[in-house]
Amino acid sequence: LPNDLDPSRVREVEDVITSGFFPSAYWELLHRVAQYYCTDLITVIRGALPPGLLGRSQRRLRLKPETIPPGAETFCSPVAGQLLRLLRSQKEGDYSAQYVQREIRGASRGIQELIKRGWIESYLEPPKTPQTKQQQAVTLVVDSFPLELTPRQVEVLQVLRQQGGECWLTDLIKLGKTSSQMLKKLEEKGCIVIQFQERLRLLEQPDVNSDRPKELTPSQQESLKVIHSLDRFAEVLLHGITGSGKTEVYLQAIAPLLNQGKSALVLVPEIGLTPQLTDRFRARFGHRVYVYHSELSDGERYDTWRQMLTGEPQVVIGTRSAIFAPLPNLGLIILDEEHDSSFKQTQILPTYHARTVALWRGELENCPVILGSATPSLETWVKIGEKSSESSPPHPLTPSPPLPLTYYLSLPERIQSRPLPPVKIVDMRQELKLGNRSIFSHSLQDALQELEDKKKQGILFIHRRGHSTFVSCRSCGYVLECPHCDVSLSYHYTHEGATELLRCHYCNYSQIQPNKCPECQSPYLKFFGSGTQKVTQELSHLFPNLRPLRFDSDTTRTKGSHRALLTQFAEGKADILVGTQMLTKGLDLAQVTLVGVVAADGLLHLSDYRAAERAFQTLTQVAGRAGRGDDPGRVIIQTYTPEHPVIQSVRSHDYQGFIEAELPQREALSYPPYGRLILVRLSGTEGVEVQQTAEILADIFWDTIGRGCEILGPAPANIMRIARRYRWNILLKFEPNAEVIIPDVNELKKVCPQSVSLTLDVDPLRI
Ligand code: ADP
Ligand code: ZN
Ligand code: ZN
Repeated sequence: LPNDLDPSRVREVEDVITSGFFPSAYWELLHRVAQYYCTDLITVIRGALPPGLLGRSQRRLRLKPETIPPGAETFCSPVAGQLLRLLRSQKEGDYSAQYVQREIRGASRGIQELIKRGWIESYLEPPKTPQTKQQQAVTLVVDSFPLELTPRQVEVLQVLRQQGGECWLTDLIKLGKTSSQMLKKLEEKGCIVIQFQERLRLLEQPDVNSDRPKELTPSQQESLKVIHSLDRFAEVLLHGITGSGKTEVYLQAIAPLLNQGKSALVLVPEIGLTPQLTDRFRARFGHRVYVYHSELSDGERYDTWRQMLTGEPQVVIGTRSAIFAPLPNLGLIILDEEHDSSFKQTQILPTYHARTVALWRGELENCPVILGSATPSLETWVKIGEKSSESSPPHPLTPSPPLPLTYYLSLPERIQSRPLPPVKIVDMRQELKLGNRSIFSHSLQDALQELEDKKKQGILFIHRRGHSTFVSCRSCGYVLECPHCDVSLSYHYTHEGATELLRCHYCNYSQIQPNKCPECQSPYLKFFGSGTQKVTQELSHLFPNLRPLRFDSDTTRTKGSHRALLTQFAEGKADILVGTQMLTKGLDLAQVTLVGVVAADGLLHLSDYRAAERAFQTLTQVAGRAGRGDDPGRVIIQTYTPEHPVIQSVRSHDYQGFIEAELPQREALSYPPYGRLILVRLSGTEGVEVQQTAEILADIFWDTIGRGCEILGPAPANIMRIARRYRWNILLKFEPNAEVIIPDVNELKKVCPQSVSLTLDVDPLRI
């Protein structure tokens, strides 16, 4: 036991629910995550394990109708009465306590009162732990078939033999067009055995044509040589422009590992691009490729987890959380598009960054970590640049100088020397002066026309989904806002305009689009700001022959829809992919010759110290989707601020130039990658209480955190109210060489009233 633990607070282990759920090096990793991100170890474990495995018991409330006197509401307190009505509205009079507390302000008092009166009871519902399914399997147990079998029976046995003599019962019934009675008979005759076996639910993936390793370009070869020479921990930046063949390097880096009995972990930013990437891995490594991400069902995640524990050499492709994949014999970790902000978890504890965790994991497992990107994060750039820029492999026969821990590898050219697409910047202010009020400039319209004439494909990138970003009244200027958040509602339509909705993109609240202004009853409501729906609509209006396909989180909600949409596009069933952020990432579509950015401004003017970096990365990535095949591509970026330095760097594909302008600004203000940040977030339903708590905490920081740390705030968050909760932040900014003192969350929580929640975001990406 740790010394500082009070023995009277230690309890006996009651029961062991499961064991052997992680490999040994893993334990240390979880500890580091807990410590660095100021999160309880158990919360880290819960986040790492497949969902449901360490399920929490849930407190639930149940009415006891027989004990409730008539007219009970009239003599209990108002809040208790409200609670009674809520519980009665449910068929069984049964609700999760968490839900009730969310719905009714001050519910705790009401709950206590009702329990005291004996009208409700509260009980714990045990967690539902996922279990691997048992299913009937059929095994062939004879070599030759007895003569008395009917021809149909022989046929079925032959089908079974073709399946390698073993098959799931349900599959055999389908394949052999047979029935379970007939299989029973065959079992009685001693030809087969039917018995229950564990059946792992792994995501079924369509078959792909296998392919062979490509002959590498000289810079690919050079990079691969370095990677193959590393059989220990090292941090490798693979800086390759879009379309330079990074993925091919990953594939060939992994191949020899599998033969050595090791596994590889490949992390990608979003599910959106995994189907395409997964197919490329499957084409090379067949069934040794597994995916692990949050779009899988709980059962699939549980079974994939168990499968990984077998230690069978494999490639696991996944999103952020896959950094916790329990592969026992890890030989390589790859983060593709390492700069992407979706590698950081922000809403849920621990607020880890998969890149940070990947580097620890590489260290613990002693295997290299490859960070791949066309636009590396400034963190990685500075780190790799500072420590070493050596790009020659260590010679195995010269032991002395210590081996470098970091490597910079570069793929400066596109495959087959294809040029990067030229980028044209269109000044939308000029368009207005010329009387063009369309969301498409003349240049973009011409390019779209050419696309139609030449029967090529294009991509239109737009920052927002939905139709319009806000709706306001032309008579009185009233803007329709979410009742729960400080944001305007976005206009969406569904089913070809049959249902018109206003939706909040923060809390998902929605309401029917009113036909009058709620403030002055005027019927003149106007839509502002364009989202994917409006762009698609206008496109169809101007170019009825170009078939659009929308690709955003509204159209990719269901399982498998990413794949379906991309396949549809790849097969030429649409001409233009209209989408948000998710289409900027890694898509390799050879037929795309035009990329249009409808409005770059939404990206440029976010109030955040990272806005420029993110805008540069997004625009460069989206531009990189053009001209990846034999036909040259081109890019058109529309903006109201063409002189913006980010736009200028994107135009000349000048990452170095962008960095050289950006780094001094970060350094001057001690922002990352120089200084470090910890964001203290407070939220609660009572605004004043949250603010007061924030002020008390800020005072504590002033007293306890010494020199070298700037305490900024408390200040209301960018959007102060989301989902009825008021949010205040305090930002701790540590000077480059200052000691980073991480506050003790549990101490801080003692100061917070129960209704105010507190989280620390260590190294936040957004502030
Ligand atoms: P990146 O990941 O750097 O954007 P990709 O790995 O997707 O680039 O490569 C771009 C395209 O070039 C892909 O279609 C890929 O199959 C192809 N490719 C990659 N390496 C080679 C090579 N050495 N020879 C021929 N084609 C290649
Ligand atoms: Zn009005
Ligand atoms: Zn809302």
